[in-house]
Amino acid sequence: MEDPADDFASESFFDQNSLQQQIQQIDASADLNGADLNGTVTNVTLPPNPAVIEQLSRKWYSGCLERIAWSRHGHIASISEDGSTVYLECLRYDQGSGSWDLHERHSLTTLFEDATSLAWSATGGELAVVDVRGRVWIYHTALNAINRLTLARQGALDEGDGYLQPVGMTWLSQDRQERPRNIVLNATKGEARWQHGNARAKPLGPYWPRAIAIVHRNGLLTLCFQRRDGQYMKVSTQLSLRDGELYTHASFAPTLEGKMIVALHSFKKRISVHFLTIDWADVNQSLEGLPSLTVDPVSSNVSSQPTASASLPDSYDPDSWTLSHLKIVPTSDLEKAVQVYPTILVVSTGINRTVGITDAGFLVSGLIKRWAVKPVEVKLHPLFDALPSTGSAVVATKPMITLQEQSDKEEQVITTMHQVDGVHNLAVTTLENRTDVLSSEDLSPMSYAASEQETTCMSQSGFAFPYTQTILNPSFSPGACVRADIGADAKTQLVVMEYQLGQPQSQQPLDPHIDTAIAALNLTFARACWSNATIDDVLMCASRTVPPELIPVVISNIYRTMFRDGEFVHEKTQGSEVERMFHKQIMAKVFSYHASLAANCSHLPSMSPTEGRNSGWTLSGQWAWLVNNVRQTTTLLFMNLRDIQNVTIVVSQDFTEMLCANLRWGLSLIRFIFNSLLEVGDRETNPDIFDEKDRGRFGDTLGDGSQGLVALLLNCHASRIFLIAFVRAVRTYAKVTEPKSQHQLQVLQCIQQQTSNKGLSFAAIEAILEYRWSAAGDVEGDIAATAVRQLDMMATGIVHESYQSTIKNLLNKLINSPSGLRAKLLVDRLKLFVDHIDLDYIFLNQDILGRRSDSQATQVIYDVHRKRPITKGMAEPHGSGKLMVRKCVRCGSFSEDVVVPPREWPKQVAMVLTRCTCDGNWVLESWENVQK
Ligand SMILES: [Zn+2]
Repeated sequence: MEDPADDFASESFFDQNSLQQQIQQIDASADLNGADLNGTVTNVTLPPNPAVIEQLSRKWYSGCLERIAWSRHGHIASISEDGSTVYLECLRYDQGSGSWDLHERHSLTTLFEDATSLAWSATGGELAVVDVRGRVWIYHTALNAINRLTLARQGALDEGDGYLQPVGMTWLSQDRQERPRNIVLNATKGEARWQHGNARAKPLGPYWPRAIAIVHRNGLLTLCFQRRDGQYMKVSTQLSLRDGELYTHASFAPTLEGKMIVALHSFKKRISVHFLTIDWADVNQSLEGLPSLTVDPVSSNVSSQPTASASLPDSYDPDSWTLSHLKIVPTSDLEKAVQVYPTILVVSTGINRTVGITDAGFLVSGLIKRWAVKPVEVKLHPLFDALPSTGSAVVATKPMITLQEQSDKEEQVITTMHQVDGVHNLAVTTLENRTDVLSSEDLSPMSYAASEQETTCMSQSGFAFPYTQTILNPSFSPGACVRADIGADAKTQLVVMEYQLGQPQSQQPLDPHIDTAIAALNLTFARACWSNATIDDVLMCASRTVPPELIPVVISNIYRTMFRDGEFVHEKTQGSEVERMFHKQIMAKVFSYHASLAANCSHLPSMSPTEGRNSGWTLSGQWAWLVNNVRQTTTLLFMNLRDIQNVTIVVSQDFTEMLCANLRWGLSLIRFIFNSLLEVGDRETNPDIFDEKDRGRFGDTLGDGSQGLVALLLNCHASRIFLIAFVRAVRTYAKVTEPKSQHQLQVLQCIQQQTSNKGLSFAAIEAILEYRWSAAGDVEGDIAATAVRQLDMMATGIVHESYQSTIKNLLNKLINSPSGLRAKLLVDRLKLFVDHIDLDYIFLNQDILGRRSDSQATQVIYDVHRKRPITKGMAEPHGSGKLMVRKCVRCGSFSEDVVVPPREWPKQVAMVLTRCTCDGNWVLESWENVQK
């Protein structure tokens, strides 16, 4: 192995000797024997890791060295140690071990000479990779899987040289100006529940769908943007005012006025600030048009060096401070909020040059300096007022900008600093391998601000990263609760935030600290919902920190915080909002969060033992996952109903088949419900034919209809309303009396075949889904109390006592009564009975349902979107020809659509396929491995 301390070669940073001469070299070979060690080392106890020092010392020369980066969607991209390869990884849940971990690495096929930094765009759709010579590669995320990217711009075509080494880069804002975003500011404890404080945020800065700005060593700014024809183009402008000046760091921030602030730090330790305006008019006018870049320098500049130091009082020397990080904290984007000025933030390392680099006292302390970028009103001399008016010829004056120094903050030696996505927090790591979260407003540590009534982030409410031996190149997950780093063994290592308050003593009443910690976790989840970020990191953190007994509390807390009570009561209640739930964009993530959290809580009821199966999910998890599937099936049907109103639309046979398969699946689920109901009745009338230990009790765990999946589906108003939405969609198709196309004809035949041919009528389906059966279990006239019961059922999978007779009532009063559904021939018992419904088909996923403990037969692998068995994999585009399938990283379901979007599918429907029904990401896996 190489000695990391010797590995630091400045040649890899600069090709030119002239450049090197300008760099103040750190004397790594200072004479250890000559230094007075005892006199200078006071506050450092642990000897720092040489590898950590080496990583920090690299940051003294360049502000563009992010070797690992986490996208909003959950891609983890990293540069290999030798700078030749970029790897892609992601989190995935392993059903076997019941834990979250990294999915295996995928290497991009591009070979780099010396890649130095990478950056994801804000939406997570693009990745930029730069090398030491300033060349730029751009990748777009693939639609088919999270572990694939497509090369959109080939960097090898760029000339590149040492002067063009990037010292800072940023993607332009991708938020269109007309669309404010929803921001969840905090969670506060009200009388009965936690509430989220929401605000709207204005998009800042220059906008372009795909463009990246890079500042090079020589002060040149390059804008690399995508034109309408898909091609990436470059334009450049010189930011530097002085010829030949070279820079170490550049940082960017968008502004309310749509400009970009660029801060530069030179080797001469000066910080200069520029306002960049990008005019896209020519690009919008013609394909060949280029954006015009206008640079307005701020006339004043400042020194990055501190003027005095408390930690180095005797031997104070300005040159003992070296800048490692330059950031701009942007102005607040919140509407109606007090505007704060953008603030330039500088992190420096205090170096004691009387000892050598390997000595523990070499790096003494850290310092954060700040300057507000502030317009000043230029007041004219009072005498000017007395002058006669010059008429209408008023000269438009530009506001003068100054850099106003703020108070410094002394710190431990800071090795890395990252802005946390979506909140005004900074995550910093220190030489002692600690991770702190600081408020970017006043740099105060968030962890000291704990309150039982309010939380703004997880670290504020007791979550902290555990101590790790080294932190080299950390990157934080979108929710900032998981840290990824490239370890000394060149592998990616994950560290998850832990909750330090110990195990709960009792659940009732909940310890206020634990209550707040749960609120903080759910706040992070809610932010992911609104910013369309992955929730895998939140799930990973929850699975490691929340004891299983508390999972139902976490689940009901999220529903109670993000929804109103009226959304959990039946549709005929005055003030009910349950029908709105179907239209909410966030539902997929909410059900997915619920399902994944509850999946393996061993103390919650599960139906797998009654089925002779092992290790299936709990009923609560299965319920949430199934409702999510009903949601997606119904969404597909409604999309198509809207599309076929346009008679000119030609629907491909492949698409019609997929749609019919979804209809068949949904109607099979309803038949499964009917069969379970009827069997409850049969057990009562003919107990002799049922063995005590018989299997195949479906979702009816106790055999009397009181508990189990079917009782949950019918008693929870949320699932009932989703089933009603599905039936409404099917009915709308069925109303067509004269099909106008082959597509409509096939769909009608499918519905016919699945209903009347199987002994079911729409009237019967609608009758069992009617509100009044389950409403009997509600607390009459009390919306809040009913919501509590409903949420308890959903979160635990245990049917509340008051609802336990619903199925018997349905049977006796609706189905089997003298004037009931059977008597009216709306249900055909024999046809329903004869047609066996395979549970594996209802669940489409053996991990969720549980695997049969008594059979070694080859398992059927279902496609969760197409709802049919996968017979063989498919070769991926531009791949090795190997047969592949897609697997969901969250629920483990499969999809055969390796080529996305499928040809001739409506675009909107095809986009639905880019995620699993549970909202989880897909990874491509070889069909061969999956079949094992
Ligand atoms: Zn899934």
